[in-house]
Amino acid sequence: MFRGRGIALKLALIFVVAGVVPMATLGFVGYRLARDSMTETSTEFFVQRVAVDTANNLDVIATNKREATRLLAWSTPLRDNVYELLGSAEGSARHDAALSLIRADLNNWVDVLGTVDLLAIVRPDGTISATNSRARPTRTGFFADTPPGQPRNLWDREDSNPLAGYSVANRVWWPKTAEHEVILIDSHREPLVIESYGYPRFLDEDVDKVERDRIKNPEAYTFAFAVGIPNPPGIDEAGGPISSQATLVAFHNWTAIQDHLDAVNESFAHHERYHSAYTFLFAYDANTIIAHYYRRLYDGKLVEDHGLADFRDAMVKARDRTGTYRYVYRKEKISGFAPVDSTGWEVGFGINVEDFNGPVVRLRNLIIGWSLGVAALIVVLVAFFSPRITRPIRELIAQAREIARGNLDARVAIDSHDEVQELGASFNAMAEELKESNKKLIEAEKRAAWQEMARQVAHEIKNPLTPIKLSAQLIEKAWRDEHPDFERILRDGVRNIVSQSDSLRQIAADFSDFASFPKRNLEPQRLLPLVESVVQLYSNREETGVEVSVEALAGADVEVKVDANELRRVFINLFNNALEAMPEGGRLTVSLLPLEDDEGRAVIDIRVKDTGCGIAPELTERLFEPYFTTRSSGTGLGLAIARKTIEGYGGTISLQSAVGEGTSVCITLPIHLG
Ligand code: ADP
Ligand code: MG
Repeated sequence: MFRGRGIALKLALIFVVAGVVPMATLGFVGYRLARDSMTETSTEFFVQRVAVDTANNLDVIATNKREATRLLAWSTPLRDNVYELLGSAEGSARHDAALSLIRADLNNWVDVLGTVDLLAIVRPDGTISATNSRARPTRTGFFADTPPGQPRNLWDREDSNPLAGYSVANRVWWPKTAEHEVILIDSHREPLVIESYGYPRFLDEDVDKVERDRIKNPEAYTFAFAVGIPNPPGIDEAGGPISSQATLVAFHNWTAIQDHLDAVNESFAHHERYHSAYTFLFAYDANTIIAHYYRRLYDGKLVEDHGLADFRDAMVKARDRTGTYRYVYRKEKISGFAPVDSTGWEVGFGINVEDFNGPVVRLRNLIIGWSLGVAALIVVLVAFFSPRITRPIRELIAQAREIARGNLDARVAIDSHDEVQELGASFNAMAEELKESNKKLIEAEKRAAWQEMARQVAHEIKNPLTPIKLSAQLIEKAWRDEHPDFERILRDGVRNIVSQSDSLRQIAADFSDFASFPKRNLEPQRLLPLVESVVQLYSNREETGVEVSVEALAGADVEVKVDANELRRVFINLFNNALEAMPEGGRLTVSLLPLEDDEGRAVIDIRVKDTGCGIAPELTERLFEPYFTTRSSGTGLGLAIARKTIEGYGGTISLQSAVGEGTSVCITLPIHLG
C-alpha cells in the first residue's frame, strides 16, 4: 500500500506515534491505577463490611435464641412445674400431672419459637426428665411426613417419651452447664435430635448425592443453649433463691443460621458484578466449616480439606477482629472475615477478584480496542489521503525527469493550494526559462556556425578566383600585345581557368554534401566493381604520374550495403588526397581483404595506400575534423564527410601515415550476407 510512498508512511508513523502511543500509555497507566486502587482498597473494604454485617446479624440471631431460651427457663410456670416434677415420685399422680403440664408448655414454645427442634429438661445427674412431644413445624417437609407447617407429634404416644431417662452426662458440654448460667452448645449434629426427627445418621463416603444432600441439609444440624432452671420464687435452698434445680437445653435448628447466610448470598446472586460472592461460617477453631452456600462443604476442614492453612492462621491471628485474606480456590478470591461475638464463630465473605476487576478489565480492553481502532483509522485515512498529498510531488518528479531527458516543454499541473503548488509554479517558471535560454543558445550556435561557414566559403571561393583573374588578364594582355607565343599562353591560361573552375565546382559540391545530407539509397552492391570503376578514372598515368592498381584477395568479391554514388565520392576524395600528396608521381594501391572484426562480424577491409609525402602522426586524428586542411585550396571537409558516410554504413575509417613514406587509409565495411 505504501510502496513508493515514503511520505505517506512517515505521516502514518507520526500520527500513530503522536496519537495512539500517548493514549495507550495513559490508558494502561489508568488501568493499573484503577485496578490496584479498586482491588486493594474498595474490595477489601467491601468484603470486610459485608462480613462484619453478616457477623453482627448472626450475633443478633444467636443472642435472640439464647435469650428466648433463658426466658423459657426462667418463666414461672416452668419453674413451678419442674419443681413439682422433681419433687414427686415417678409414677405418682402429682408427677404425671406436672409432666403433662411441662410437656404442654414445651410444645407451646416449640410452636411459638418455630426454629427449635428439641427442648429438654435435664436433671442435675444428666438424665432427661421431660421434652416436647410436638415436632418443629418444618418448612420444606424434607424430613417430615406431614406437609410443611402442619403440627406433627414426635412419637405416637405422648405419655411414653422414649427420651425420658436418657443421659447426656457423657457429653463434653455437660460439665460446663454446672459452671455457667448459660452456655452455647456447638454440637452441630446432635444424636438426640437426629433420633427424634429421623434425620439420616451417618455420612459414608459411599453415599449418593441425594443421600448426602439429606445428611448435609441445614435442617439436620443444630446449635443449642443450656440454661439453668431456677427454683420457684420463695424456695430457699442451699444454693440461694435462683440456684438451679435442673437445666433446660434448647436445640435450635441450624436453618436459623444458614437462612441468614443464604439471604446474604441471595442479595448478591443477581448483581451483575458481585454474583460470585458467597458467605460461609467457621466454628470457633476457624477451621471447621459449619455453614456454607455449598452444603456439601459442611463439616469440611479449611486446612485439611482445602489446604488453606494461611487463611485459618489469618483468622486466628486476627481473633475477635475483622480482616481480609486473598487466596486461590479454583479462581483468585478475596475474603473478608469477622467474628460473631457471642458465639466465637468466624464469618467469611468471599468474592472472585475478577468480578471487581471486570470493569477495569473492560476499561483496558476498551483502551486496547480503541487504540487499535484509531491506529487502523489513521492508516486508512493516510492510505486514502496520501495519494492526494504525494501525487503533486510525484508529478514534480516525473516532469523533472522529462526535462532531464530533454523535453523542455514538460510542465506540472498542481492544484493543491499549498507549498507544493508554489513549488510546482516555480518549477514551471524554471522550465520556461530553461527552454528560453536553450532556444537562445541554439540560435547563437547556429549563427556562429553559419558565420563560420560563410567565412570559409568566401575564403575557398576567393582562392581559385585569383588565378582565374590572373590567367584572364594574362591572355588579354598577350592578345593586345600580339604576343608571338600567344597560342601557348592562351592554351595554358584556358587550362588554368578550367582547372580552377573545376576546383570551384568541387568546393561547391563538398559544401553541399556536408550541409544537405543528401538522401541515401542503401542497396547491396558488389564492392570490387565499384572500386574498379573509380580506379578507371585515374588510369591516365601520363597526366598524373601515378600508377594505380587494385589487389583483391581471395573471397574479397563481396557485397556491401551502401549508397553507390556516395561511396564512390568517398573514394574520389581519398584518391584526390593521395594524388595531391604525390605531385611528383608515385604508386597508389587499393587492396581488399575479408576479415572478422573484434566483435566477430564478417567485414571487408579496404586499404588505400600511397607513396606520398605523408603527414605528421600527431595530426592524423585531427584530419577527420571538418575544415582541417593543410592545403590552401582544400576545404578540409573531405575526410570528415568520408567518416560520416562510412560510419553511417556501420563501418570504420582510420589513417596511418609516416612523413616522407606515404599514407594508408583503412576502411572496414560489414559484409552484406544476402
Ligand atoms: P582537403 O583535401 O580539402 O585538404 P581532406 O579532409 O580531404 O581535405 O584532407 C585533410 C588533410 O589531410 C589534407 O589537407 C592533408 O593535409 C591531409 N591528407 C589527407 N590525405 C592525405 C594523404 N593521402 N597524404 C598526406 N596527407 C593527406
Ligand atoms: Mg581532400
